[in-house]
Amino acid sequence: MAAPYAATPARSRGRQYSEPAPCYRSEFQRDRDRIIHSRAFRRLEYKTQVFVNHEGDLYRTRLTHSLEVAQIARSVARVMGLDEDLTEAIALAHDLGHTPFGHAGQDALNACMQSFGGFEHNLQSLRVVDVLEEVYADFPGLNLCFETREGILKHCSLPHARVLGAVGQRFLDRTQPSLEAQLTNIADEIAYNNHDIDDGLRSGLITLEQLCEVPLFASVWREVTGRYPQLIGGRLVHEILRRLISLMVTDLIQSSQAALGAAGVTDPEAVRAHGVTLMRYSPELLVRKNGLKRFLMANLYQHPQVYRMSWRAQKVVRGLFEVYMGDSRLLPPKYQQRIAEHVAHDGEAGKARAIADYIAGMTDRYALRQYAGLFGFSTPGAGF
Ligand code: MG
Repeated sequence: MAAPYAATPARSRGRQYSEPAPCYRSEFQRDRDRIIHSRAFRRLEYKTQVFVNHEGDLYRTRLTHSLEVAQIARSVARVMGLDEDLTEAIALAHDLGHTPFGHAGQDALNACMQSFGGFEHNLQSLRVVDVLEEVYADFPGLNLCFETREGILKHCSLPHARVLGAVGQRFLDRTQPSLEAQLTNIADEIAYNNHDIDDGLRSGLITLEQLCEVPLFASVWREVTGRYPQLIGGRLVHEILRRLISLMVTDLIQSSQAALGAAGVTDPEAVRAHGVTLMRYSPELLVRKNGLKRFLMANLYQHPQVYRMSWRAQKVVRGLFEVYMGDSRLLPPKYQQRIAEHVAHDGEAGKARAIADYIAGMTDRYALRQYAGLFGFSTPGAGF
């Protein structure tokens, strides 16, 4: 049953372009379906999470990451009586604006765009659903509901918030998004903390021995090895991770329900007006979870091998940006057309934005192919 503080389609602030109501789906289900049918969603399959897409078939990609986020978020939404369809839509869309090569790609593109307003992947996800998906006859983008767009825009710098209208207003007012958006943000973190451990172990860049120095991981490791002393390898890892996810999810549900009860909120607007987010971990788990994040940062994301991969990825993104800025005739005709339109309004910044949109939309392998084609390497991806 829907909780009183859940978002509901009936109370939605609606779409940017008004449309007839769907016949047999809710407005949020329609959003989810539009996201799944988008081109940007299909491209997530070939975009890096941590490990470059073609490094191994078992590593997470942005697509499988997004599906894991949706699974975790929906489970929590159902237990708490939040809107499961809205939660799913936000989860599936949250990384649509990610560049190729994960954070390395985004950092490189942001550096290239410094004089032209920068590049933020959250903002780009919103730009994808608002503008860049050009498939519907009646409107630009996917014309999603306000609540879905609000959830996609997790973070946003103030200068950008000022020009985004209603969806940017909360960053200026310092108010909160819906519980469904807050939940998806945390589910994102639960998903990547756990699957990055799995991928990190599989790659051999981190070890179980190292992880056992992290209190949160060690406590679950002790529980599993105490019960199954013979368990080794992938089964041991999986058994630990499923419990770790469960532990985080359970804590999130209980702590959030307690916070909602204490705050006495009875509708979605009270959730937004509340001084702080109400979806949260207990203070104890927060400390332990942060210890795990610090470990992953120091030992996985900054591992020399990942750094080397990131360095090469940045070189590809930077190289493409510079070449296209220098001679836009190297771009596909569609983007040359976009540049002509953008330049009319924003001059050089408009040109840079159109190029950033093109590069951000690339999959890892497409970016490598373009780079190889322009710089003359015969083996795309060699050395990654
Ligand atoms: Mg994510």
